[in-house]
Amino acid sequence: MQAPGLIIGGGIAGLTAAVALQQQGLAVNVCEAAPQILPLGAGIWMAPNAMQVFHRLGLAEKINAAGVPLRNIQIVDARMRPLLRTNQERIRREFGYTTTAIKRAHLQALLLAELAPTTVLLAKEHTVLADTPAGVAAAFADGSRAEAGFMLAADGIHSPIRTQLFPGVRFAGTGHVVWRGISAIQLAEAYKQSIMEAWGEGVRFGFSEVADGLVDWFVVVKAPLVTESHQGLKARLQAVFSRFAYPIPAILEAADEARIIRNEITDFDPIPQWSRGKVCLIGDAAHASTPYLGQGGCQAVEDAYAVAQCLRREPTPELAFAALHRLRHAKATHIVKTSRLMGRAGYLTGGAGAVRNFLMRAAPAALIERQFRQVYALNY
Ligand SMILES: Cc1cc2nc3c(=O)[nH]c(=O)nc-3n(C[C@H](O)[C@H](O)[C@H](O)COP(=O)(O)OP(=O)(O)OC[C@H]3O[C@@H](n4cnc5c(N)ncnc54)[C@H](O)[C@@H]3O)c2cc1C
Repeated sequence: MQAPGLIIGGGIAGLTAAVALQQQGLAVNVCEAAPQILPLGAGIWMAPNAMQVFHRLGLAEKINAAGVPLRNIQIVDARMRPLLRTNQERIRREFGYTTTAIKRAHLQALLLAELAPTTVLLAKEHTVLADTPAGVAAAFADGSRAEAGFMLAADGIHSPIRTQLFPGVRFAGTGHVVWRGISAIQLAEAYKQSIMEAWGEGVRFGFSEVADGLVDWFVVVKAPLVTESHQGLKARLQAVFSRFAYPIPAILEAADEARIIRNEITDFDPIPQWSRGKVCLIGDAAHASTPYLGQGGCQAVEDAYAVAQCLRREPTPELAFAALHRLRHAKATHIVKTSRLMGRAGYLTGGAGAVRNFLMRAAPAALIERQFRQVYALNY
C-alpha cells in the first residue's frame, strides 16, 4: 500500500487519476491552480479506449447519458462527400462503446462528483518541488506546503513540473490556430450522433452534437486568418466556409461570437522518461498531442487509470512509475506521431489535396479500422 499521494492539476488527467486512486483505496489530494474547475474548451470526444476505462470506473453509462454516443464518424470534403468512413457498430461490438461527445463541463462535473468531498483544493498553485526521505515536498504560491508519498504531475502541456524535472523539451508549433464553439442548432437527422470533419482547401471544419440541439464545432485555419480579437471573427469564418455545404454555414450562423475559444495548435517531441523518483508526469504534461486524432484527453484518461493500477500493484512509487512507462509510453508516442501526420495531411491543397482525397476514398475500410483498433485497445 502506498503512502497518500498528491496530484498537481485538476484537468481530465488529474481528476480521473484521483477517481481511480480513491476507488483503489489510496488516499490522494488534487491541487488545482485555478479558483474553480473550468472547462478548457467546449466539447470533447471520448473514444472507445477512454470509454472502456470509464466503464471500469463505473462512469461510462453516466457519460453516455450526459453526452451523445456517436454512430457515425467521417472525414468529408467541402461538399460533405465522404473521404473516410468507419463502421462504428463494428467498433461498438468489439469494444463495448463507440465515441461519446460530451461538453467538457459535464465530464468534469461527473468526475468531481465521484470524489470524496475535500479531495480537490482550489487556488492551490504549485511552485516548488523537492525530494524528502519519505517522498516529495510541494510548496504553493499561497505560502503553504504539503508532503506526500508520491506526486502525479497532471499540470498540462506547459507543465511547470516537467520543466523542473526535464527542462528543454522541444515544442513543435504547427502555425495553425483552432477556433472552437458551441452552437444551439438542431441538425438534420443525417448529421445527428455523428462526428463530421470537412477538409477543404487548407482549412478544416469539424462538428458533432454534444447534447440534443447543441453542436460543438471547431475550425482549424492557417496563420493569415489568425486574429487575437473576436471582433468580426464570425463574419470572417463565415466567409472562409461560405462555399462549404450544409450544415457548416448554418452552424457558424448560430455561433455566439463572444464565446468562441482560440487555441494555438502545438505538441512537443516525445520525451524518453516520464518520472523521476517519486514524481510522475501524466496526460498532456507527459505527451501532449495535436488534436487531429482527438486522443489527447483519451490518453490522459488511460494514463490516469493505468497509473492507479500500477500504484496499487507495485511496492514503491518508483516501481509503479516504471511499470506505467512500460505499459503506456509506446502507445502515447505513437499517438503524438500519428496525430502530427494527420495534421499535415489535412492541410494539403491543390493537386496534393486531390491525391490525398483519392487515396482516402480508395483505402479499404478494414485497413482504416485496423489503425483505430490499435488505438482503442487497452493493454492493462
Ligand atoms: C482544439 C482541441 C480539441 C481537442 N479535442 C479533443 C478530443 O476531442 N478528445 C480528446 O481526447 N482530446 C482532445 N483534446 C486534447 C485534450 O483537451 C487534452 O489532451 C486534455 O485536456 C489534457 O488533459 P490534462 O488533464 O493532461 O491537462 P489540462 O486539461 O491542461 O489540465 C491541466 C490542469 O493543471 C492545472 N495547473 C497547471 N499548472 C498548475 C500548477 N502549477 N499548480 C496547480 N495546477 C496547475 C491547470 O490549471 C489545469 O487545470 C483537444 C485539444 C484541443 C486543443
